[in-house]
Amino acid sequence: MYVNGKQIKDIVTYLNENGVRSSQNKPIGKTTVTALLQNRKYIGEYRYRDVVVPNGVPAIISKELFALAMDRLEKNKYAPSSYKADERYLLTSKLMCGDCGALMVGEGGTSQSGKVYHYYKCVTAKKKGGCHRKALRKDAIEKLVMRKTVQSVFECNAMDSLVEHLMMWQAKENTAVPLLRRELEEVEKVWRTWLVR
Ligand SMILES: [Zn+2]
Repeated sequence: MYVNGKQIKDIVTYLNENGVRSSQNKPIGKTTVTALLQNRKYIGEYRYRDVVVPNGVPAIISKELFALAMDRLEKNKYAPSSYKADERYLLTSKLMCGDCGALMVGEGGTSQSGKVYHYYKCVTAKKKGGCHRKALRKDAIEKLVMRKTVQSVFECNAMDSLVEHLMMWQAKENTAVPLLRRELEEVEKVWRTWLVR
């Protein structure tokens, strides 16, 4: 959300509205979110005092996405709330540059006539790091990806494999059922003896 242009205070509101609480069971504050964004555990780094173990814990976000959040934090230190993009870039963290393989991120621009444009731009190109991939128009690439996704989902094979995955998933979930059933039997037993009394 942060890389997509949401402000920290918006994220705070979002988390609180969705019932997320701190480890002390208190509402989330700005400090918590800022700390969260900088927590390197999410990229797999395990740290104990001054020992750092890369890939010591399972990473839940990519190093690249983490770096983008860091960049934005750094920028906003000097220019707080100057960037108010509330546009949703659907492909953030999913779109890679075909030339250098880096992530492509959303960017807005205003033409001389005052019209606002939205693009996806290669991070390397953005940092003038040697990639010359041109920015992609947001609506064009999103429409294309959307169409392809819908197409492949409705192909028979994809449907079959989706159903298969769902079934497998369900079977996994069901490992809890026998346990719960046993627990229920116990409860019923107690209940019955209680009724007899
Ligand atoms: Zn590139």
